[in-house]
Amino acid sequence: MAKLQYERPLIQKLNTGTMNKFGTRTEYRPHTEIDGAKVEDLMKEFGSPLFVISEKTIRDKFNDANRAFKTRYPKVQFVWSYKTNYIAAVCNVYHQLGSWSEVVSGFEYNKALKSGVPGSKIIFNGPDKTVEELKLAIENNSLIHIDHLDELYTIIELTSEIQKRPKVAIRVNMDTGIYPMWDRFGFNYENGQAWDAINKIVLTDKMDLVGLHCHIGTFMLAPSAYGVAAAKLSELALAIRKKYGKTIQYLDMGGGFASKNTLKGSFLSGADTTPPIDDYAEAITTSILNAGFLEEELPTLYLETGRALIDEAGYLLGTVISNKRLSDGRKATIMDFGVNILFTAFWYDHKITPAQEFSHYTENSVMYGPLCMNIDVVRENVTLPPMKKGDHVVVHTVGAYNMTQWMQFISLRPAVVMIDMKGKAHLIRKRETLSNIDASEEMPGYLKEFKL
Ligand SMILES: *Cc1c(COP(=O)(O)O)cnc(C)c1O
Repeated sequence: MAKLQYERPLIQKLNTGTMNKFGTRTEYRPHTEIDGAKVEDLMKEFGSPLFVISEKTIRDKFNDANRAFKTRYPKVQFVWSYKTNYIAAVCNVYHQLGSWSEVVSGFEYNKALKSGVPGSKIIFNGPDKTVEELKLAIENNSLIHIDHLDELYTIIELTSEIQKRPKVAIRVNMDTGIYPMWDRFGFNYENGQAWDAINKIVLTDKMDLVGLHCHIGTFMLAPSAYGVAAAKLSELALAIRKKYGKTIQYLDMGGGFASKNTLKGSFLSGADTTPPIDDYAEAITTSILNAGFLEEELPTLYLETGRALIDEAGYLLGTVISNKRLSDGRKATIMDFGVNILFTAFWYDHKITPAQEFSHYTENSVMYGPLCMNIDVVRENVTLPPMKKGDHVVVHTVGAYNMTQWMQFISLRPAVVMIDMKGKAHLIRKRETLSNIDASEEMPGYLKEFKL
């Protein structure tokens, strides 16, 4: 054996930030514009805080996901998850891109109808569908994804008064190797509940079982779990074909692909660690293609991806209210936005960038919101250059769930604008007013007057 050649060792220094006596620097340039619209101008025109949505990012992310799936599988349909962001203008961008609607409540169902989505292109998920809502969904030929047996029995009962065969799927939950398992929704695969539901649906013969659905979790960082889920749904579909001679038309793999946010406690940033959408597409399509479907019976693949498509399209602009020293010497910065409108601050370390020029010094600080409660922490520890009262920041990757889970606590919810493909800002949700809130309150007559 030839002697191995000596190779001089090389140590390469990797910088995650420039050290200074207060810690590492993470921001190098101010974030002054979004798709060509100036941050300062947006805040001047629409106020602070302000949510900004980039239409370009929505379209880019969607086209990328569409490419990832359509280059691997012949029949793909995206279905926009309303609860991730149901501002009508946002939904309409997805509808223009060809997405159907996925809703989890009667309110969302009616919102989709009102936007002009045909009933047959609405998927109705969720455990709480009222009799009236189910009736409406049956009449509109919507796809009803049954969550539990009580819902199944209600639908069977309804078919005696509505002369229509409902189109249904069942939601299936299963062990994909990720714990805790999301087993509170739908019927379990391993313990036979899924078969119970399938047998009842087929043998009562009142509705058409057109699909199988799963949604295995949210912010799932393991694409392999989707491979397992797709294999189990495929197995079920093929077994239904064999037992009853019925072809399942679609497999709906739900959502839950991770966005590029950084989960609290992660060492590395989500931008570096989140799997690309191609990895999820590869795991899912490989499982279905290898399951053994006849070519002409290959099910359509439905995807209800939410956060992975919209999170990076959303920004929150805000303003520094004050700086102070805490009793332990730490610096605290108080912002004009808190967990009331940035609900996702509870589980993400959002990236925050100053919106104006800054010095190269940094200091660790706690970033608080304006609410009068101790839990109102935007970032427990963030390394930023010193900012003064009135300075602005841009919070990144906030497009998913914040505009649906925000709460009206102490103050009014901010406006939302969308920057179009040409860099023009459009108001898509007005800032709330006192009369919006007052409108739903009632005052009993005897409480109308008082003297102080
Ligand atoms: C919430 C939800 C989605 C979307 O989940 P994301 O994590 O935003 O991708 C899809 N399908 C169902 C049934 C859901 O409940």
